[in-house]
Amino acid sequence: MSTLVAEKKKPVARGGRPAPELIFGDLWEFDPAPESADPKLKARYDLFIDGKFVAPKSGKYFDTINPANEQKLAEIALASAADVDAAYAAAQRAFDTTWGKMPGRERAKYLYRIARLLQDRAREFAVAETLDGGKPVKESRDFDVPMAAAHFFYHAGWADKLDYVAPGRRVAPLGVVGQVIPWNFPLLMCAWKLAPALAMGNCVVLKPAETTSITALKLAEIFQDAGLPPGVVNFVTGAGEVGAAVMNHPTPAKVAFTGSTEVGKLIMRSLAGSDKKMTMELGGKAANIVFDDAPLDQAVEGIVNGIFFNQGHVCCAGSRLLVQESVADQVIAKLKNRIRVLRVGDPMDKNTDVGAINSREQLDRIRQLVDVGVREGGEMFQSACRLPTKGFYFRPTIFSGVSMSHRIAREEIFGPVLSILTFRTVDEAIEKANNTAYGLSAGVWTDKGARILKLSTELKAGVVWANTYNKFDPTSPFGGYKESGFGREGGRQGLLDYVKLS
Ligand code: NAP
Ligand code: MG
Repeated sequence: MSTLVAEKKKPVARGGRPAPELIFGDLWEFDPAPESADPKLKARYDLFIDGKFVAPKSGKYFDTINPANEQKLAEIALASAADVDAAYAAAQRAFDTTWGKMPGRERAKYLYRIARLLQDRAREFAVAETLDGGKPVKESRDFDVPMAAAHFFYHAGWADKLDYVAPGRRVAPLGVVGQVIPWNFPLLMCAWKLAPALAMGNCVVLKPAETTSITALKLAEIFQDAGLPPGVVNFVTGAGEVGAAVMNHPTPAKVAFTGSTEVGKLIMRSLAGSDKKMTMELGGKAANIVFDDAPLDQAVEGIVNGIFFNQGHVCCAGSRLLVQESVADQVIAKLKNRIRVLRVGDPMDKNTDVGAINSREQLDRIRQLVDVGVREGGEMFQSACRLPTKGFYFRPTIFSGVSMSHRIAREEIFGPVLSILTFRTVDEAIEKANNTAYGLSAGVWTDKGARILKLSTELKAGVVWANTYNKFDPTSPFGGYKESGFGREGGRQGLLDYVKLS
């Protein structure tokens, strides 16, 4: 057993090695290890319509900032309804004249080229993603960018195998599609949305989130370099009104949305009765379930990864820990010990585990719900790390003594905050895990294969991870049950949402 000396001050070692007298549980200093690649940012980003960067018709721009220090990074064009019209007109033209008619094997070449060009510029994209969104550069570098390239590679592989998408049936593209994405995985969400749509022969108008448009617009540079025909992909930037204009436009045959359940419901209401196809990837409140026979140290790593990865800005974050009562004290002690040594701070530092919260609004939302958790009687523990004085940061936080009636057990916090509940039997675990409006993902930690199979069948969640958490692969479909949405992204199932079958 390791010794915990939480509040005792210990000598700090510099130069990468802890002083020998440091006891596990203390945070020691590392020398700064900033990522140095040039993100090659422009001072101003225009809209990307019909293969060209064009000024918005209104002439208006808004600032995008670095949430780690609140400094302005660039200006982003503010699209109006007239720009959205122009983007859809370009997409329709591209569909009618080039992309919709092109054999799949030709489209595949463009997708491969895009994936390869993204790999060539991987470090530059990782740094841009981190500066604009606040996530640790080790995540942008090791997860977001390679996974985005993997999605283009994977879907390139489908574009020339259309006969196998739905064997015995003919597949045809839907036409033009409209897509809106959130700020938590800006480039990766672009890839999730664009790659299957393009592989199946559709053309796209996409709106990135207001706070994180840069990597989409850098991807547009790659589309130009790849020689993608003009109009196949169009990016319109701005806030919620632009998103509504993209979703409600008469042109698209299908709309795809990733974001909050609240906005998803608004979109569904406004499109009710139309013949548009729709897919919705919405919020979550996943349960990470730990049984007493689980390898507990491994489970603790999975829990930490499940909720503190990307500052908890993850739809499938394991934001509820359900732990079997007999090991609850042990797991909570281990968890506290682990989060004490999480490095919170400058996302550009390669040692940082938990970076900046994406925006002041999101930080305020997290603080409000955490205050509610305290008022409701949850027992809060936060790591005692120092936070930078500028920028938006929140300490890794856990609440024990939580029950299902607490708001922090029911509502999506979308921040580095874990609510801990206990259970005694397998059935109680299943009941508590399913007792939520959401159903995006879940985690199960146990030594017993039969129990994993039982839970993966009975948990109402689109993804169930066993003895691991937050693992993704383009071949594996992702999507929700209940208020987490409908439709799948990734795998063969994801393609079916972008084709007409006959
Ligand atoms: P959000 O507020 O719903 O925004 C998502 C996107 O929709 C943004 O681009 C937003 O523009 C736009 N938007 C806002 N109002 C709109 C409207 N009335 N009509 C059309 N578009 C509109 O969500 P968020 O706060 O950015 O992202 C966090 C949420 O996304 C969480 O609930 C999370 O669980 C969910 N999410 C789900 C998945 C999944 O796969 N299921 C993946 C990632 C995230 P602005 O940026 O200007 O607000
Ligand atoms: Mg930003």
